[in-house]
Amino acid sequence: MQEYNEDFNIHNPARQPQSTDGDVEKALRPLAFDDFSGQEKIVDNLRIFVQAARLRGEALDHTLLYGPPGLGKTTLSNIIANELGVGFKVTSGPVLDKPGDLAGILMSLEPHDVLFIDEIHRLHPIVEEYLYSAMEDYRIDILLDKGPGAKSVQLTLSPFTLIGATTRSGLLTAPLRARFGINCHLEYYDHEVLKGIVRRSARLLKVGIDENAALEIALRSRGTPRIANALLRRVRDFAMVKGDGIITLPIARMALEALNIDRYGLDETDNKILLTIIDKFRGGPVGVTTIATALGEDAGTIEEVYEPYLIQEGFIKRTPRGREVTHLAYRHLGRTITGEPDSLFSDID
Ligand code: ADP
Repeated sequence: MQEYNEDFNIHNPARQPQSTDGDVEKALRPLAFDDFSGQEKIVDNLRIFVQAARLRGEALDHTLLYGPPGLGKTTLSNIIANELGVGFKVTSGPVLDKPGDLAGILMSLEPHDVLFIDEIHRLHPIVEEYLYSAMEDYRIDILLDKGPGAKSVQLTLSPFTLIGATTRSGLLTAPLRARFGINCHLEYYDHEVLKGIVRRSARLLKVGIDENAALEIALRSRGTPRIANALLRRVRDFAMVKGDGIITLPIARMALEALNIDRYGLDETDNKILLTIIDKFRGGPVGVTTIATALGEDAGTIEEVYEPYLIQEGFIKRTPRGREVTHLAYRHLGRTITGEPDSLFSDID
């Protein structure tokens, strides 16, 4: 089945707006719960919390969204603000180096606005401490001057909602975590939902796409809408140049092969993790810390960002003695199973 908009005319580039990938990403971002596919449980709950906050005329509780990159944390935060009918301000943990930066943003919030802090696990500890009283009592103490005689003034803030997003919830301090009333763990998207996202994006980009081509893109997108949208844009280029503008299965396959996109949607780090376990640790079992050291990566990042997808897709198993790759990983990487793992290399964590 094909879907395309009659307005789309690749032979007349003047009719196509000039836009960058950043603009396109913005244009594809869903703006309401109804346009946001997948993560049903989270969305259903958020709809209730948003409606209840509106009925009470209060700010929504502070909300923590966590999960790997590109799954929709920023998008969902924007939607929450839209559905609450309030303003939305965006910043990120590493950008706020001084309490004054945070105070400036907090003071600019209107009642019930949403403040989105991306990468909240990277907040400076001093800034984080200021955030505690802001979240709890809608107040901040600002130090005027320095030294022992310094005075402080207390500023009262409008009630607001902080939405924190993180890929590394394990790095959040306990006091910060405790101040979020709503916690949502975003999961990787299944292929059918991703296929729907690809078709929606194609519609918005005014490009025709076959249903099985949409599925092919979905299968190679590592369960991640951001990757699906990026692949769609590149495949669209191939369809315009090598085809008649419509994305068919052969065009999608040709483009994805030309772009060297992994058949299972794994990225370079995923494949490095699997190859390390196979080549250096004979397939495992091996501990995450040991894998991380061998790769020069952070163990927490492997555990929270990479491993969940590899486990979900059946490339890695968690065992009491550590991580082991599966037959699927050997097959995918064209390796043969060589023998028993070397227990010297195994550790448990
Ligand atoms: P994160 O903040 O988790 O890194 P984003 O919210 O920036 O991810 O999402 C990346 C892109 O993926 C967005 O531009 C949006 O277009 C798309 N996207 C994410 N989640 C969805 C969804 N559930 N439905 C449709 N598109 C989505």
